[in-house]
Amino acid sequence: MGSNEQIPPLGVRGLTERDSQYLWHPYTQHKTAAKPIGITKGEGVLLWDENGKEYIDAIASWWVNPYGHSNRYIADAIYKQLTSLEHVLFGGFTHEPAVLLSERLMEILPSNQKKLFFSDNGSTAVEIAIKVALQYYYNKGEKRTKIIAFEDAFHGDTFAAMAASGISFFTEAFRGSLIEVVRIPVPVKGREEESYSALKALAATNEYAGFIFEPLVQGAAGMVMYAPEALDNLVAISKTGGIFTIADEVMTGFGKTGKNFACDYLTAQPDMMCLSKALTGGTIPMAITSFSQELYDGFYNDDVNKALFHGHTFTANPTGCAAALASLDLLQQDKMQQNLLRINKKHLDFKDKMEKHPRVKTARVLGVIFALEIERESESYYGSFRNRLYDFFISKGVILRPVDKVVYILPPYIINDEQLDTVYGIVEEALETIL
Ligand SMILES: *Cc1c(COP(=O)(O)O)cnc(C)c1O
Repeated sequence: MGSNEQIPPLGVRGLTERDSQYLWHPYTQHKTAAKPIGITKGEGVLLWDENGKEYIDAIASWWVNPYGHSNRYIADAIYKQLTSLEHVLFGGFTHEPAVLLSERLMEILPSNQKKLFFSDNGSTAVEIAIKVALQYYYNKGEKRTKIIAFEDAFHGDTFAAMAASGISFFTEAFRGSLIEVVRIPVPVKGREEESYSALKALAATNEYAGFIFEPLVQGAAGMVMYAPEALDNLVAISKTGGIFTIADEVMTGFGKTGKNFACDYLTAQPDMMCLSKALTGGTIPMAITSFSQELYDGFYNDDVNKALFHGHTFTANPTGCAAALASLDLLQQDKMQQNLLRINKKHLDFKDKMEKHPRVKTARVLGVIFALEIERESESYYGSFRNRLYDFFISKGVILRPVDKVVYILPPYIINDEQLDTVYGIVEEALETIL
């Protein structure tokens, strides 16, 4: 596999070249960015490009792919569903895969979560949560039109999700058109009190409908981590002010933190949760927002105008639901749970080692997430140091996407020890090579 047979014959234009004629890529300044790599095959942890070069996908393709590429078990479930009921509209209709998925998820979601709403991606899951928080108060005739979020949060790129996101140059151009979001500090070690008091002040005003956060790990900010006790406190403060809490588990969900959900580390329970990314094992775009009974009841009324008038054409697509059910089967296998423990242990050993490295400022681990911060001045999100690191990793056949000076690893759960050691080795080599 990955042999020369993948090289296109001379005279045939490759994917990279054909791509640039018509395609526009995410988060890409096409004038300065390197051309995209044409990928022709994925299997397990590995990807191959059109020249036959092999890559270890050490970030699970933007955190969506815990069970490996081209997973046969999920593929079979998708095929079976496609040949019995590929899709039916969810307005006025329902089907077994959606009902079964709701039953299976309710077994593992926090016990206060009672209703699920389907959509297509992480941003829409967030969009729906924010709309529900705002409309809940609108339905009650109370004026609460603002949302609270963390500094450096990332919740997606649609308008409400973007408003909640704090990575400013992503959202700068749209500032005037966004809902009002007030930011509080992330309760990282040493800043807990600052974070609590900021939220207390906001909770006292009765102006805020919701508080959205990435529980325990802020992914796009560079795997910034904070303690469950701190989040428990913030959830408790929110409750005193009638502020609905929204746990955006789009990245953290389905095992990444070592438990099914990051919220499983909490004593408190959020009012809403947003799920996507690993939900379907990286196969079919799908998302779910879950709600407490109280939120659902705020829309349950003889007055039709109080309904949640939100929907997407592919809501609860049966094929996506079948992929999600198969993914849950895989997550719940003993051997997958063993993988989570095994990766976590290896990450902790690597952390101990890297913390002693003269160029490493800090290293952190939660579940299968490993991150280290290199000692140097910050540049921008896509600064030149970051790009040199990225290019180095690609040249070595490892897909890692550093965020500024943070290098993180978030591998598929099926990565073996040898592959993981290869990834660690290349991170160490980068520290010796890229200045
Ligand atoms: C990726 C991500 C989103 C956005 O999901 P999309 O599917 O890209 O729209 C939202 N929240 C978090 C925490 C994410 O990591």
